Amino acid sequence: MSGPNHHKGWESSEFPILCGSCLGDNPYVRMAKEQFGKECKICQRPFTIFRWVPGAGMRMKKTEICQTCAKIKNVCQTCVLDLEFGLPVEVRDTLGGIQDDMPTSDVNKQFYVHHAEQAMADGTLTQASAGGKMDPAGREQLKKLARTEPYYKRNRPHLCSFYAKGTCNRGDECPYRHELPVTNELAHQNIKDRYYGQNDPVAKKILNRTDRSGHLDAPEDPSITSLFLQNVEPDITEADLRGFFYAFGDIRSIVISKRSRVAFINYTTREGAERAVEKSFNNCNIKGHVIRVQWGKPKQQGPKSASHADAATTSREPTVDEIASLDAIPPPPGAGGPVRYSAMDPTQLGQVPLKKVLGEM
Ligand SMILES: [Zn+2]
Ligand SMILES: [Zn+2]
Ligand SMILES: [Zn+2]
Repeated sequence: MSGPNHHKGWESSEFPILCGSCLGDNPYVRMAKEQFGKECKICQRPFTIFRWVPGAGMRMKKTEICQTCAKIKNVCQTCVLDLEFGLPVEVRDTLGGIQDDMPTSDVNKQFYVHHAEQAMADGTLTQASAGGKMDPAGREQLKKLARTEPYYKRNRPHLCSFYAKGTCNRGDECPYRHELPVTNELAHQNIKDRYYGQNDPVAKKILNRTDRSGHLDAPEDPSITSLFLQNVEPDITEADLRGFFYAFGDIRSIVISKRSRVAFINYTTREGAERAVEKSFNNCNIKGHVIRVQWGKPKQQGPKSASHADAATTSREPTVDEIASLDAIPPPPGAGGPVRYSAMDPTQLGQVPLKKVLGEM
């Protein structure tokens, strides 16, 4: 990291951050290094590009995103898969219940990345460790899905497009693979979506075949017919929520607190609520936001404990005052706050909360 650096804010590094699959099976692999060789595909700052051949017969690989961006998400600089589980970010964050607040607008993003980098240099921010703050149940699921050994096949040469058309005459000399292409979701991926964990067809496929029900037991109190949602970002409207949740049962009402970014979906029947929880738990993505779904709070007994939150779990419509006061109430017990990597904790990025600074820009 040291040495003469005339390119302020540009990243210089000695060795890439790679997953075992991208590195290949030779620990002594030779790497070609090019300082400021290309712009990072996420933050657009020039960074040190590495190129190497990960084993005999494999294609040349290179780093695509900078080390800082890789550390922020704990992903490989080349394949952008999670370093711990070898899974797409979207799968990890959905199952692990992790919320990401990395800005996507270019100016704010560069500012965020720059601060993260400084914090890493100061030692106030260490490489994101996804493990500690994850849902324990989600973590178990990720462990089951995780690759237990490197997947070197991913490093094979690209398919020969001439072979596919029947016009390659290079035979065994052809450096590309002579196989017919199968429809491959990877072809429809892009690195930014994979990095931000959104619209990732590979992730969708993995999530669809993952049994994600049965990790949220229905509350014993049969009068509870509400879902409590977290991470309801300001751009999510009641219509968006209705559009997602109406399919599971008749909805009596929807209450959104923009300020607390929470919402209640109140079903008319317990069956509807149970179906909704079963289908949406760890599987609710609206407008690119991963929504955290929990059961509503049990209805409390006695006048003293009748907080406004209970309004949402009873069968009547909450009043305007109750809706307004939702902003003041904490989430139900056990719901917890949004889970983040340490690297995503704005308070760890310096003395000034990053969000505050960003808000003033
Ligand atoms: Zn970057
Ligand atoms: Zn990789
Ligand atoms: Zn060929």
